Amino acid sequence: MAISRRSFLQHAAIGTSTLLAARAQAQRGPIAPPDQQSADAKLPEVVSRKLGVAIVGLGKLALEEVLPAFGECKYAQPVALVSGHPDKAKRVAAAYKIPAEAIYDYAGYEKLANNAKVDAVYIILPNSMHAEYTVRALKVGKHVLCEKPMATSVAEAEQMISAASANKRTLMIAYRLQYEPTHLRAIEICRKQELGALKIIRATNCQDTKAPNIRLSKALGGGPLQDVGVYCINGARYLTGEMPIEVTAIEHRSSEPRFAEVPESVAFTMRFPSGVISHASCSLGSAESRHLEVLAREGAFEIENAFTYRGLKMRVRRAGKPNGRPNEIVEPKIEERNHFADELDAFAQAILSNKPIRTPGADGLADLRVIAAIEQAARTGRAVKLG
Ligand code: NDP
Repeated sequence: MAISRRSFLQHAAIGTSTLLAARAQAQRGPIAPPDQQSADAKLPEVVSRKLGVAIVGLGKLALEEVLPAFGECKYAQPVALVSGHPDKAKRVAAAYKIPAEAIYDYAGYEKLANNAKVDAVYIILPNSMHAEYTVRALKVGKHVLCEKPMATSVAEAEQMISAASANKRTLMIAYRLQYEPTHLRAIEICRKQELGALKIIRATNCQDTKAPNIRLSKALGGGPLQDVGVYCINGARYLTGEMPIEVTAIEHRSSEPRFAEVPESVAFTMRFPSGVISHASCSLGSAESRHLEVLAREGAFEIENAFTYRGLKMRVRRAGKPNGRPNEIVEPKIEERNHFADELDAFAQAILSNKPIRTPGADGLADLRVIAAIEQAARTGRAVKLG
């Protein structure tokens, strides 16, 4: 085949440049010497043992958020299921490689005691069942992670805390937002008074809950305060680091059949010892809205989608100086993480490595005291003081 003068010159040029590159490389040495690690390569952590968790109740939260979150956990894994529906449980067990022998029903719950792989249970049942299933698990020597609200009354919560202490087991309440990066940053802003002293907290946590739903059943411990309002209470408590000393409240009881047993909406205020006033609205009958706004002396911040599972967004506003400088508004970049996974890992580490728990039973009990006071205030139309 004839080679044109042009193609010959092109080939010659490529050959020369390859030769030059190889010579330069030989002078520099190999790019990645086989005996050297790249300086920023992180070796994986060797996790010698993961916490084995039995999931109790295979409802929406367990199936759609908690079980998938284990895939992102370092220190916890699902090893057993407790359910009233064996067919569903078998299917879930197969998906998560849980042996069929590790499926239990509610009557056979205590058999968990004989499964050495189960270190702990995660109670994801209707609120009215939290106390009973927590105490039963503690009595057979298992640690407990329990969904919010911890129970349906202060007395139940106290029994759960006593059972954990008597059986020397860990009891943690699943207040996932205390493991969520945007809320952790919010806590830091408040604690360090980065915007000055806190003044007002405004929280809205509302949704439209269709019947049938455990949230609409009084017998199952439902209600707007219990389901969504508790986030506004817990949030104001962890932002201020205080317990409210006085509450006022009004509620709306709707004539819609779905609200025959629980109020549709509750609005309440909480007064804190430092002078912070928090006002909150929660509803099971309105369009979805989940918003948190914190006003301090020198600025404010708000969180959009504040109580959702993902998509939280913070906006910080510093007040302008008296010389007329306009407000400075910043949207800090905060890593989005699967906070269900971080919460499960925190629970596991508390047990496996003896680390302190951020959301112990006492945190859930404090919220139930506030809920009881809000309910009393709504019933009587009077402000209620908390001791
Ligand atoms: P679901 O109604 O979807 O699931 C509850 C599950 O509990 C059922 O699927 C069932 O599981 C079991 N159950 C046992 N007895 C009953 C009964 N009598 N009536 C109804 N269910 C029963 O509820 P969710 O998953 O939405 O909520 C469960 C818990 O999780 C609640 O305490 C809720 O407050 C909390 N939650 C927390 C959230 C968070 O962000 N931290 C978000 C959503 C809920 P089975 O069929 O396997 O027996």
